[in-house]
Amino acid sequence: MSKPSTPLPAFRSPLTQLSENRRPPAASQSSSQKLTRINATPSGSPVFKPFKCPGSAAPKRESALPPRKRRKVDYSGADGTGEGGETSWTAPGAVLALREANKLPVFKVKDAESTFRTKFAIPFSDKTRINANRPTIALGMRRGANFVPKALHDPTGEFAIVLYDPTIDDKKEEEVVESSSVPDVPEEGAEKAVMKKPNKSLNEILGIKKQDTSDIPRVAVVIDPRLAKVLRPHQIEGVKFLYRATTGLIDSKAHGCIMADEMGLGKTLQCITLMWTLLKQSPEPGKPTIRKCVIACPSSLVRNWANELVKWLGEGTIHPFAVDGKGTKEELISQLKQWAIASGNQIVRPVLIVSYETLRLYAKELGNTEIGLMLCDEGHRLKNGESQTFTSLTELNVKRRVILSGTPIQNDLTEYFSLLNFANPDYLGSRGDFRKMYEMPILRGRDANSDEKTRQKGDERLRDLFGRVNKFIIRRTNDILSKYLPVKYEHVVFCNLAPFQKDLYNHFVTSSEVKKLLRGVGCKPLKAINVLKKLCNHPDLLNLPDDLHGSEQFFPDDFIPKGARGRENHRYVNVFHSGKMLVLDRMLRRIRQDTNDKIVLISNYTQTLDVFERLARANNYGFLRLDGTMTVNKRQKLVDKFNDPEGDEFIFLLSSKAGGCGLNLIGANRLVLFDPDWNPAADQQALARVWRDGQKKDCFVYRFIATGTIEEKIFQRQSHKQSLSSCVVDEAQDVERHFGSEDLRKLFEYNTNTRSDTHDTFKCKRCKPDGKQYVKAPAMLYGDTSTWNHFAGDGMGKIEDLLLRQEGDVMEGVEERVVSEVFQYISH
Ligand SMILES: [Zn+2]
Repeated sequence: MSKPSTPLPAFRSPLTQLSENRRPPAASQSSSQKLTRINATPSGSPVFKPFKCPGSAAPKRESALPPRKRRKVDYSGADGTGEGGETSWTAPGAVLALREANKLPVFKVKDAESTFRTKFAIPFSDKTRINANRPTIALGMRRGANFVPKALHDPTGEFAIVLYDPTIDDKKEEEVVESSSVPDVPEEGAEKAVMKKPNKSLNEILGIKKQDTSDIPRVAVVIDPRLAKVLRPHQIEGVKFLYRATTGLIDSKAHGCIMADEMGLGKTLQCITLMWTLLKQSPEPGKPTIRKCVIACPSSLVRNWANELVKWLGEGTIHPFAVDGKGTKEELISQLKQWAIASGNQIVRPVLIVSYETLRLYAKELGNTEIGLMLCDEGHRLKNGESQTFTSLTELNVKRRVILSGTPIQNDLTEYFSLLNFANPDYLGSRGDFRKMYEMPILRGRDANSDEKTRQKGDERLRDLFGRVNKFIIRRTNDILSKYLPVKYEHVVFCNLAPFQKDLYNHFVTSSEVKKLLRGVGCKPLKAINVLKKLCNHPDLLNLPDDLHGSEQFFPDDFIPKGARGRENHRYVNVFHSGKMLVLDRMLRRIRQDTNDKIVLISNYTQTLDVFERLARANNYGFLRLDGTMTVNKRQKLVDKFNDPEGDEFIFLLSSKAGGCGLNLIGANRLVLFDPDWNPAADQQALARVWRDGQKKDCFVYRFIATGTIEEKIFQRQSHKQSLSSCVVDEAQDVERHFGSEDLRKLFEYNTNTRSDTHDTFKCKRCKPDGKQYVKAPAMLYGDTSTWNHFAGDGMGKIEDLLLRQEGDVMEGVEERVVSEVFQYISH
């Protein structure tokens, strides 16, 4: 018993030899265990019969089971009995109950009553360590999580769009660290003091000691994937530009820019992406770049912006504070104040959407709260640097400004300066400097009567100006949409006045009324201009003969003055009394007959829409009409109805004054702009309704101009502005200089002897005197109709549009074509 292990080696079977080496020596000490071990080896031979515990009366359950594959663990000796363990196995009657393991106390449920009453004692085994005189040993605080600096969105993701890459854009870091190290000096001193102290500071113990920010690595700023997947390539380009401009990566002294993309390129989405990125990320991990954002826009667009935020970012992602005129003045003031004082995590509505008017009135309620970003939609409102809106907006504490505008310049370089000066204050110097340095030389150089030297100087200054400011302006034309959009054919259609219109027009411009006006006495020019403009559309827009004294003599037999019309005649439109209306009537018939196209008709005058309506009713054309008074909701329903391909209405009547912003009429692929507006931006907005994202068919756009009339003058003025705009903003150098200074007298001239007064001003070298264009347009510039294709007379038979081709046919009984000239632009 005392030497149990000695005889064993002699019995070692060769079979077990192998595993023997891996075993602790103690394991091989009892013969019974050796048998157990053998038990684990494959059975079959009688030698390996399952072991039966000699002491147990009943056979062990395990023994009946097939041998287990897992290695048996030997516990003998583990309970401190050492070799004595053998006793319990070998000696009969010792039984399992004797095993030390089985003697361990069994846990018994304690009585809750007494357990909870017992005093708490620190579970130290060595009670002497507890000294009542010493302060209790704290268990300690958990240190703040030491997070690994990481970008919010994975910059290596498959479709990740990185706006800030620390490995490339890090050159800025030096400056940032430099500026932040100045206030850090006292902190560094404090740190040294801490070093001397033997114990940790409270801040360190609590884990709230500020980490030195300069050694935190910068992380990438990546566009939110949900936005990244909807952005078009040009929009990604735009967002990158916006980000670089507003974060000072282009020029550290400037944090503003102008987003001047043409209508339909998604300026809103690009700006929302910028705003969302700045609100959520910065190169410093886990920190936003900005905390508050203001979107200033015309009041009609406040709700629109709120909807766009939800549309692109998703429901519940962001809660904008849209000031939409609901609620009282007091409520608004208190809400604005609250918005202004909120900081850090208190900011629940980081985006304030507000109209320019409201912002102007309540700018002081916002106090000096830091506004990280301000977006100014329809930003050409800021063109007047002296306006109240401009001044009140500049008084706000805004760090980054983005101006959104489809048409950055409408009139002159002074406005251009105002916009740039608003976006980047003081970047271009004072207004006077700008005027002397750039504006005067450029304008002198653009005058048609200027000499070569003046022109050169003007061009030089213009180039210089580009160099300085173009890095803060992004301007893309609709042409880049051509990658996604079908072809757009845009036409300027010059229509002769109908004989009746001609008589009335001549009568009015030679009347004593207009003569007096030109001498500066009598009626106001605006009123006379309106009479002429209405007359160009249709005589029915005027109240004859009251609006035109002495016009009775020209009334044709089939004309019934408005006052004398019965119910029946009131619904009737005589298209032969207006050249433009006659062409439109023929177009509508043709469309209805040959295609399933839909068409949008736009005019400045609601009376024109009334005439369209009568025309449609008389011909049983289904139509829809959008009025300026309609609520946004109603408008949307109307638009959806029209865009439905199954819908019956094939005409959409739209007033250009109704504010067509954001109206998406892609159900139509044809559009007629029946009269020109003084403001080219208004026309551009109107024209952009159909040729936009989602359009599947080729688009045909027609801008009607009454030949030789005031409409041509308006159109020419527009082109002048537009060519200036395309010159400064699009950097198009070859814009021809057509126009000298114009005056009121020219406005009231009626040029009866021309196919197109506008074409005459081009002194076009590509067209023969008979109107035939023998050199095709080499490169068409959208803003400059002199570079477009010109069609007149027989040449119109070749035009790529069936509606205009039919106008080229000389009809029997008609001595001249109504359409006298067509300018055509093809998008791609
Ligand atoms: Zn020409």
